[in-house]
Amino acid sequence: MKYTTVVRADDKSSEIEKKIRDLITINYDEKNPDYVIAVGGDGTIIKASHQYPNAIIFGVHTGHLGFYANYSIDTLEDLINDINTSKFECQSIDLIQCELINGNKKRLIGNALNEVSIITPLKTLLLGVYVDGEFLETFRGTGLCVSTSFGSTAYNKSLNGAVVDTAISSIQLTEIAGINSNAYRTLASPLVLSSNRVIELTNNEINKSVHITVDHENVDIKDFTSIKISSSKNKIKMAYHKYEDHLKRIRRTFLK
Ligand code: NAD
Repeated sequence: MKYTTVVRADDKSSEIEKKIRDLITINYDEKNPDYVIAVGGDGTIIKASHQYPNAIIFGVHTGHLGFYANYSIDTLEDLINDINTSKFECQSIDLIQCELINGNKKRLIGNALNEVSIITPLKTLLLGVYVDGEFLETFRGTGLCVSTSFGSTAYNKSLNGAVVDTAISSIQLTEIAGINSNAYRTLASPLVLSSNRVIELTNNEINKSVHITVDHENVDIKDFTSIKISSSKNKIKMAYHKYEDHLKRIRRTFLK
């Protein structure tokens, strides 16, 4: 077994990483690791999952918040033992994929742990919204966000989306500043769907360039016909020493 680290650029995280590396007995391998220790915050764990999608992620939070992290500065001993003995549990986390569709051509833009969003910050977007090929609505506004159950507490929550129990596999469609008038009418509520559904967003304007975000990554698309967002076959594996229920995670992140 080999491991690598992904570390947030701050003194505390660097110091913790050094401590961890001194005590880990398996080999270090940046190119092909089985385990990735992400030291920092949620952003570091999300980055690690994009960089090493096939490895098992050990998230260690060093800041005040850490939704994804299953280890902390106080449980470093558990982390070291779990890695050195290869004895730990894993949780599989659903991903959603975003594909660019042009006629019969499909191109994967990326897989998201939290969400995919399509936005134009300055001008409004005009998008056809289809679920499983059925027309739902025409959206006009700043953008749309499609999140996973785990991602429901991230950007989606700031958009007044519903917080979803991670025991439920879902995809949620949330509006970003939708305009509702007699010309364009949308549901104007978060829509929580089964993760078996496929959401397709079609471009109703010509030559409109949009930003598509896949978690922390941002892709500029100059012209597009449609994008499809659906659940991905791939999953992210997160290691833990002690299982933490989703409601406890919600409480420690948002309510305490
Ligand atoms: P960042 O530095 O802007 O931090 C985003 C914040 O979201 C951090 O406090 C992080 O702890 C928290 N977070 C991330 N995933 C979470 C989750 N599943 N549940 C609860 N909190 C979560 O960005 P970053 O660290 O690179 O993370 C990228 C994420 O930031 C994106 O996936 C998106 O969800 C989130 N984001 C949120 C907003 C917003 O709420 N207005 C805006 C842009 C991006």
